[in-house]
Amino acid sequence: MAEQLERREERAPARFGGLDYAPAPEATDHVKLRADHGLLIGGRWVDPLSERRFKTISPATEEVLAEVAEAGEEDVDAAVKAARAASKVWSRMPGAERAKYLYRIARILQERAREFAVLESMNGGKPIKESRDVDVPLAAAHFFYHAGWADKLDYAFPGRRPVPLGVAAQVVPWNFPLLMAAWKLAPALAAGNTVVLKPAETTPLTALRLGEVIQEAELPDGVVNILTGAGATGAALVGHAGVDKVAFTGSTEVGKAIQRTLAGSGKKLTLELGGKAANIVFEDAPLDQAIEGIVNGIYFNQGHVCCAGSRLLVQESIAEPLVDKLKRRMATLRVGDPLDKNTDVGAINSRAQLDKITELVASGEADGAKAWQAPCELPARGFWFRPTVFTHVAQSYRIAQEEIFGPVLSVLTFRTPDEAVEKANNTPYGLSAGVWTDKGSRILDLANRMRAGVVWANTFNRFDPTSPFGGYKESGFGREGGRHGLAAYLDLS
Ligand code: NAD
Repeated sequence: MAEQLERREERAPARFGGLDYAPAPEATDHVKLRADHGLLIGGRWVDPLSERRFKTISPATEEVLAEVAEAGEEDVDAAVKAARAASKVWSRMPGAERAKYLYRIARILQERAREFAVLESMNGGKPIKESRDVDVPLAAAHFFYHAGWADKLDYAFPGRRPVPLGVAAQVVPWNFPLLMAAWKLAPALAAGNTVVLKPAETTPLTALRLGEVIQEAELPDGVVNILTGAGATGAALVGHAGVDKVAFTGSTEVGKAIQRTLAGSGKKLTLELGGKAANIVFEDAPLDQAIEGIVNGIYFNQGHVCCAGSRLLVQESIAEPLVDKLKRRMATLRVGDPLDKNTDVGAINSRAQLDKITELVASGEADGAKAWQAPCELPARGFWFRPTVFTHVAQSYRIAQEEIFGPVLSVLTFRTPDEAVEKANNTPYGLSAGVWTDKGSRILDLANRMRAGVVWANTFNRFDPTSPFGGYKESGFGREGGRHGLAAYLDLS
């Protein structure tokens, strides 16, 4: 029976040959692009004192979308001072009042959801169905959730006297530009801190537009300041003496450098860094469901996901049929225009990231692993990479050790649960993991033994503002989301 079904599935594409999805591009006319952007400091958009600017592009077309300011040290200083001044007002405001502002931000984000989704896809390259259905709704949900806590901090931490930390410096990456900004801003503001936020250099546009939303919500001047720029701006911000708390999401390398800078300063620090998650499939797993989970785990957002399931650990007895099924599913992924509503895999975020993925994939082939790529046509312009799966992978290969941060999956096998746990934990990272099995007891056993901040069971890449997210080992420390995330912005002593 199973064989018959497989044969029928194999024949299906031929039977429906020629039937394809018509293009379904999302309109962009409701997104008014500004030619240039200033910095949001003290409630006003100002030109950078550095007098430097840089261009931001669409990675799908390489077209310039806008020019943005590059904040220098003087700009960082002005923003931190503005945040310090605003702290007097914001930290003393009753929590119920602060909550009203956060609810307003959440509602405006919902009202302007389409505009934010389109802009996110234009600037970052991610498929519109993801920015529309994941990034923007989750960003709004983070503000709603934390608005609820703002007047209940005493109940969140019974017996403690929660006090805001002061000025928070927040640096975020390019893979979820708006969502990461929301993860950072919402708990900080709910807890009574003021903020200087620095978005990533390749994706500044939705954070800048969030600055407009913050103005529209009439937050007091200086409560949220937004500085665009690259690594040097980030380094100046996290190293500024006037900052009380640093929250960083990005690469492990930069996270370590920040930790060195802050050592001995007494400033509070949370680090959300890289990952190399194991997605473990047992022979009793519901295979079709697991295939969807594997695809979602590694090809969602082009694999630019810190918690991506980039190492697939399959029980040896089902490795062959599972990889066959996976390839058939991968062949149906639609790669291309991020603004097309049918697109599954969009553009790689930057040329630098494409080069990094290409180099790591070449190393996998040189090491002896076997690559298979989804047969799809790639657009002539922009940055693209075919969804790729590697078999014949040894644990020592770079593709099994290093974070590729692209649509590339490495398949390894195991025989026993113990071997699965040992292989899953054989990484310097520890951000997330997945387990696919019919047995609840096995899920609980593995979740206890895996050194990963999040373990998904029979699903993958699920996020919720109530659920703490964060890593072990070189994936960082501190949690975002839930009460744990709130605690990172409070002095509870
Ligand atoms: P990155 O570390 O290069 O940059 C992240 C941010 O830090 C950017 O805004 C960048 O301008 C800034 N930055 C660069 N150098 C800096 C410095 N010396 N001091 C202060 N700031 C500096 O990382 P990336 O390439 O933008 O993002 C990808 C990385 O982020 C991946 O490793 C990914 O796993 C990680 N990430 C982690 C999580 C998580 O929650 N754990 C979430 C998303 C991304």
